[in-house]
Amino acid sequence: MKTTTKVCIIGGGVVGCSVLYHLTKLGWSDVMLVERSELTSGSTWHAAGGFHTLNGDTNMAALQGYTIRLYKELEELTGMSCGLHHVGGVTLADTPERMDMMLAERAKHRFMGLNTEIVTPEEIQKLSPITNVDGVIGGLYDPLDGHLDPSGTTHAYAKAARMGGAEIVLHNPVIETNQRPDGTWDVVTKLGTIHAEHIVNAGGLWARELGAMAGVYLPLHPMEHQYLVTEETPEVYERDHELPHVMDPGGESYLRQEGRGICIGFYEQACDPWAVSGTPADFGHELLENKLDRISDSVEFAFNRFPVLQRAGIKTIINGPFTFAPDGNPLVGPVPGLRNYWSACGVMAGFSQGGGVGLSLAQWMIDGEAERDVAAMDVARFGDWISADYTRPKVVENYQRRFSVSYPNEELPVAREWNTTPMYDTWAEQGAVFGAQYGMEVANYFATPDEADYETPTFRRSNAFNATAREVMAVRNSVGINEVHNFGKYRIMGTDARGWLDRIMAGRIPKPGRIALNPMLSPKGKLIGDFTVSCLSETEFLLTASFGMQAIHMRWFEQHGADGITIENISTARIGFQISGPNARKVLSACTMDDVSHENFKFLDVREVQLGRLKALVQRVSYTGDLGYEIYVDAAEQLKLYKILTHTGRAYNMKPFGMRAMMSLRLDKFFGSWGSEFCPDYTPLETGMDRFMAYDKPTDYLGKAAALAERAAGATRKLCTFEVEVDDADVIGYEPIWLDGKVVGFCTSGGYSHYAKKSIAFGFVPTDQIKPDLAVDIEILGEMRPAKRIEQVLFDPESSRMRC
Ligand SMILES: Cc1cc2nc3c(=O)[nH]c(=O)nc-3n(C[C@H](O)[C@H](O)[C@H](O)COP(=O)(O)OP(=O)(O)OC[C@H]3O[C@@H](n4cnc5c(N)ncnc54)[C@H](O)[C@@H]3O)c2cc1C
Repeated sequence: MKTTTKVCIIGGGVVGCSVLYHLTKLGWSDVMLVERSELTSGSTWHAAGGFHTLNGDTNMAALQGYTIRLYKELEELTGMSCGLHHVGGVTLADTPERMDMMLAERAKHRFMGLNTEIVTPEEIQKLSPITNVDGVIGGLYDPLDGHLDPSGTTHAYAKAARMGGAEIVLHNPVIETNQRPDGTWDVVTKLGTIHAEHIVNAGGLWARELGAMAGVYLPLHPMEHQYLVTEETPEVYERDHELPHVMDPGGESYLRQEGRGICIGFYEQACDPWAVSGTPADFGHELLENKLDRISDSVEFAFNRFPVLQRAGIKTIINGPFTFAPDGNPLVGPVPGLRNYWSACGVMAGFSQGGGVGLSLAQWMIDGEAERDVAAMDVARFGDWISADYTRPKVVENYQRRFSVSYPNEELPVAREWNTTPMYDTWAEQGAVFGAQYGMEVANYFATPDEADYETPTFRRSNAFNATAREVMAVRNSVGINEVHNFGKYRIMGTDARGWLDRIMAGRIPKPGRIALNPMLSPKGKLIGDFTVSCLSETEFLLTASFGMQAIHMRWFEQHGADGITIENISTARIGFQISGPNARKVLSACTMDDVSHENFKFLDVREVQLGRLKALVQRVSYTGDLGYEIYVDAAEQLKLYKILTHTGRAYNMKPFGMRAMMSLRLDKFFGSWGSEFCPDYTPLETGMDRFMAYDKPTDYLGKAAALAERAAGATRKLCTFEVEVDDADVIGYEPIWLDGKVVGFCTSGGYSHYAKKSIAFGFVPTDQIKPDLAVDIEILGEMRPAKRIEQVLFDPESSRMRC
């Protein structure tokens, strides 16, 4: 065993082996993997080996597509068999809502190059004659679905990695991981200590324990999972070709052919978290006790859907554990707060996702960033507010919802009120219907007493429509108030704070008392943040950005930190309100003796304002595109601030507004949103963020070379705004844009402008196809909707309200 290495991967399941292979594939050969037993000694050996592309997150779905296509390459490279059965698969839809979800997925697949198809019940019957299609409306067929041999595949990854120079050490448990002052690691194993520049935790079922060795909490939990294999049955062996997979979300089951019999697995409601207080160190190749009572309802349902099961005897029952993160997606990337410690765990579908996880992590380690946006699986998408008490019930919820329809507006019920602000009860009394963002309760809208106090999950317009319209018009006609607790906020201090910001941001750093919007770029020129930078003094700046990005931003800041710069995450410590609308200034000036007239407090000014007894930091900006102010105080003073503002606001009929209204208001001004229009898949030039770039500033800012190169070459696609002719369903995101019978682009987000009474969509179109009044079709839930490009914003085109 070698004792020094660039990378030491811990864990020889399918994920660890995939990471090892991808590191060698991308050029790092001084890498090794340490496994406590044989390869596949965790979840991997139990797996049913199914693979599919369907995933609610588009980038995850694309990575699943990559994983599936990789198997042929592995077989060719190694000469080993992965035991591939590319039999195709169909997911059944037995409700209109599930059909909507299939239609939305199918639409996304068009520009992802995935050839899925919507199929009728008759076609499903033909594809899978053992399926009783009573009650089935249709389905989504994916020719890429199939299954493989889990052990063969893992060994193929391992062989390919060895061929690339990697070393694999078996029967060698890691006992300790100790960091040296220079950030490298001593990996203490049974066979001796390995000095590694980087560690990858691919410990699967034991990832929690491995993380704890380094003082890290990784939010994942193992769940028990059961599948059955039947005896041989003529309905299977008399066929001349293999049956396709059938996913029956209504019955929470997945089914496929196994040899001459059938294999069917269940995601049952009465599920069990496994090993709550930790995975036993000696757990290995044993199975868990069968718990048929837990799946009896699902089995009964399956007997009706697949009557052949009533006749085929059960040969084997497998009950094995595997791990999930709270949202079901993997935990990948650099662990915040620890240098050179990488996570590759929480992978619940190793044979659909393992290749994509390996590729993304290897790119991240070698190039400093992954090729596509990995936010959905970034280990830092959960902040330090997370704990086992949050993870466990969310994992149970996720397991139970494995086959549920995921609605774009849905707010899940488990682990709610995890974090609240002092305003929570006040808003609740006013009819707030809350959602959760990054563990924090956020008012989505305010229902009147005669309206439902929950929002119906749907792909179409929800029952929040009227309330949202009221709130939008309250802002546009007079003044609205909402919280600014759900912005990420960072205080940057130090004598070289300006210099540091100038290097890390790609825009202009404002003068004292002023605000400037700033893109933050990766070295490859991708958008990794959009910040409001406020200069409070030459040595103190406030940054505001997307709330859900806190741990990701802090990780980046720390990686690119500088001596003498203090960076403090004050997201929940400094909260307050924004007031917005034509009467916002009147409300503010009635609360203070300070001069807040336009002449003295201009658009993009920031200053302290005395509001009664409170000293607040006030910024003249608003995402509503209207006259507006963001007013920040310490969290303990939020209620006092609320009283002051509402006392004067009453005279102007000031109304609270929630996130649904905010997202409608931003459409009026074509404002993009982080995670939709702006994300690491896109660049400033593509998204219009170039207007906030200071391309030629003298500083060698991060991403400068790539940004300048892109400016010189021009962007091949650009974000456009469309007005869409719709009935009851607006654009949500990732709908294909059609031109002359071809998919030429896709939407990033959209919605209904309650102010302009128009359905609006943002989307990318190839630059050479963009022209005034460009007419396209946007495919929404399976229907072609005519859409016209618009260039003039819908509200206040002169910006006289916002700027004057
Ligand atoms: C019943 C069942 C059915 C499934 N069906 C499917 C399916 O059809 N399709 C699909 O995609 N997925 C399926 N899965 C899930 C799949 O098995 C997992 O996604 C996958 O195996 C995760 O792989 P991993 O490498 O992350 O973890 P693991 O397989 O758990 O590997 C972790 C490895 O780390 C090693 N290790 C841990 N601690 C140490 C240490 N201290 N020192 C050295 N080595 C250590 C372990 O020995 C182990 O080999 C199923 C799982 C189960 C249980």
